[in-house]
Amino acid sequence: MNTLPIDRKTGIPCPDCGTLIPVTISDLLGPSGNFTCSNCGRKLSLMRRESAQALNELQKVQAAWRNLDKKSHVNL
Ligand SMILES: [Zn+2]
Repeated sequence: MNTLPIDRKTGIPCPDCGTLIPVTISDLLGPSGNFTCSNCGRKLSLMRRESAQALNELQKVQAAWRNLDKKSHVNL
């Protein structure tokens, strides 16, 4: 398997507390699609097949979810 030369840090902002959960592309493509916020313990599950391509969009969506979260609970 190749290791992708990725310089920039990637992560997912926790929808609960906003802490950036460090997620590498390798993590996204790996066997585990589950991540836990180190700050509040919120668990995130990603569909790895989509996540690598959707990561940028996901970050935008999650920013919107932070607003939606006040109205309705969103499960990842
Ligand atoms: Zn959190």
